[in-house]
Amino acid sequence: MLEQLWLWIIAVPMAFITSLLVKRAIYAKSRPDIALVLYLLVTMASMFGGAVIYLLSPSLTSIIEALGFNAILMIGGAIVLLHNYAERSLDEEIRKISISNSEGDSTENSVQLAQQHAAVHSLSVSLRASVIFLILLNEFLMGWAFVLASGASTQIVLSTFTKVVGSDWFIFTMVLEMIFSVYMLRHDLPKSFFIIVLAQSVVMFFAPTALNNSNWVTYSIYLGSIAMIGLLIYIYEYLFKNKIITSAIRTYFLALLAMYAMMMAGIFVWIIQGSALLFVLSILGEMILYFGLILSKNSIESSKSRSWLTDPWWVFGFMGLTFVAEYFMGALIDMQYYGSSFISGITASLAPISGSVITQIGAVFYNFIIYFGSVTASPWFLIMMGAEMGALVVFKITITRELETKIRLLLVIAAYFIYSIFLPSFVFSSNIASIPFLGWSMGVGTAGAVAPVFLGAILATYLITGVLSFLFGARQTCSVFCTAALMYQGTFPDSMSVFNRTSKLGKKLLTSRMSNLYKVVSSIAIGSIIIAAVVSYLNSVGIISFTFFGTDIVYFLYIFYFNFLWYIIFISIPFVGTYGCVTTGYCHIGLFNQFVSRIGFFRLKVKDPMQCVNCETKDCAKACPVGLTDLPGNFIKSGQFRSHKCIGVGDCVSACPYENEYFYDVRGWFRQKLGMGTSGTQSRPHLPIIGRPGHSSISKSAALNKVEHTHP
Ligand code: SF4
Ligand code: SF4
Repeated sequence: MLEQLWLWIIAVPMAFITSLLVKRAIYAKSRPDIALVLYLLVTMASMFGGAVIYLLSPSLTSIIEALGFNAILMIGGAIVLLHNYAERSLDEEIRKISISNSEGDSTENSVQLAQQHAAVHSLSVSLRASVIFLILLNEFLMGWAFVLASGASTQIVLSTFTKVVGSDWFIFTMVLEMIFSVYMLRHDLPKSFFIIVLAQSVVMFFAPTALNNSNWVTYSIYLGSIAMIGLLIYIYEYLFKNKIITSAIRTYFLALLAMYAMMMAGIFVWIIQGSALLFVLSILGEMILYFGLILSKNSIESSKSRSWLTDPWWVFGFMGLTFVAEYFMGALIDMQYYGSSFISGITASLAPISGSVITQIGAVFYNFIIYFGSVTASPWFLIMMGAEMGALVVFKITITRELETKIRLLLVIAAYFIYSIFLPSFVFSSNIASIPFLGWSMGVGTAGAVAPVFLGAILATYLITGVLSFLFGARQTCSVFCTAALMYQGTFPDSMSVFNRTSKLGKKLLTSRMSNLYKVVSSIAIGSIIIAAVVSYLNSVGIISFTFFGTDIVYFLYIFYFNFLWYIIFISIPFVGTYGCVTTGYCHIGLFNQFVSRIGFFRLKVKDPMQCVNCETKDCAKACPVGLTDLPGNFIKSGQFRSHKCIGVGDCVSACPYENEYFYDVRGWFRQKLGMGTSGTQSRPHLPIIGRPGHSSISKSAALNKVEHTHP
């Protein structure tokens, strides 16, 4: 214990000195400056390297070897340093050439100048890489020396590497270096990056490999996940507020997410198989990323900027990597909460890979979907995802104007946690399938066949949702009870609705019309569910005998559609657009409710169609996350909008600059019958449009033409 204390007394100042050297490297103006930093880093490395040589095999010989090793590195470093001091700095030389060039020197000097500039640039990149390499080497050697000094015996190269990088000596010292260096740079880093780096250091601190203690493993997974979720929420909100970002930020975020995906997968592999290699590689990767960022901190703000919304592949990569990180995070939390039975239960349900080639391919596909879906359907994955996406919905509530939409968004959060997670997973988990609506599983029952005992509950679910959709529109399902509402309606995902208008596929799915693609997809979705339900029923009552590798076909289809495909469509927003489940028509329960809604009371109305005629922004159409760009045309034609694809999100109502639009459903119908007016809960005064700068009045028919011609 006392030894550990002494070692930490050495490690903490070392971390501080390394941070000082990093700061010095950042502000180095000449080659000698940077050479000094390198020399000091080499000196530190040689000191710890010598200690490792001795501790691996303590003897007089190893002391001599260690001293020799130290002497070679220190003398070699000193020669390089003195050589650099003897040279004039490169910057000075360039300045001299510049002066002579500006005085009318020859082209030869211009070429020389360009070459020197190139040299400075390449020098700075290579020197940055050298600084990063030496910092990591330093940490590695110090960690190795301290691991040995703590009594561990490490002989095999790979296990030494993973043991050292995964140890408290390496990880906690790195955390200290991150905190020290970011504190020293606090005035020079943009505030957002100061917060991001601090959060990164917290995530790194909760490395489960750092301490050999089972409680630490459990709590570090919980707390590290919370820290990572917090950081991701911060990054989402940052992106929502900063649509134009530099290429350096884009690269950093993508690389950070790649490291986090690797980190979570690495912890998963470590817990399942005992190998920490993937995890420690992610730690090293994150450190390289971090030091690379602060050593070229100017590029955070000065590199080329553009909107991330114009880069679908970047967004796809960002969302895909986020998903991978969260997938493994969810699995890890489930494993901590439910114990090893969580994974062994999944593994036990997998199909053996044997038989004909077709059977083997089927088994691989089945196993992949079951493994994937078992995690995405698990309570802790949903809780973790809900906390993250729910925070973005809370942010959305704070910027939403309409009280009705605010209340709906609050209901979205409540429904997600109470109705979709708490009650089914923690209260009624044993008999959930027989409780109508609650155990709905998109209207196919829960985790089982369409058995006679559940048939009543399934039919009652359709009846309940159908009645609600008839009275209030499909929004009771698609914009409140379905988990999709939480996923799509936070600030960050909502800002991606622009992809509905710009992606190739999104353009095909715009407006209320049913494109051929929509007809094909929705027919397959409905057809497959109906056929599977019939097969499942016949199988349950013993008329036929058919399962898919031992799993009921409806249940498998449910996992495939909603625990696998749903997430693929979600991370493909840049290519499909937002609310892909509605725009493609691939969700059978959504289709059912949307068509019932179309014949029910629900619609959008405007107080004054002439205001839409004169409206130049048509903001309602731009705001719709489903891509219903034919809203204004319908308002002008009939003062209302009815579409089976309208799921009552309400962004169009919020977006109307004249506060002209409002919801109408059975409550409006009653008000109308009672002579209380029809404008629903949206009873704000009209904003006068006359006199708005740049506003011109146009006739109703001209406006109609204009609107309709702009639609695909
Ligand atoms: S279409 Fe289906 S998945 Fe999408 S929001 Fe509606 S019920 Fe949910
Ligand atoms: S509802 Fe509002 S935003 Fe939409 S066309 Fe009418 S006035 Fe313009």
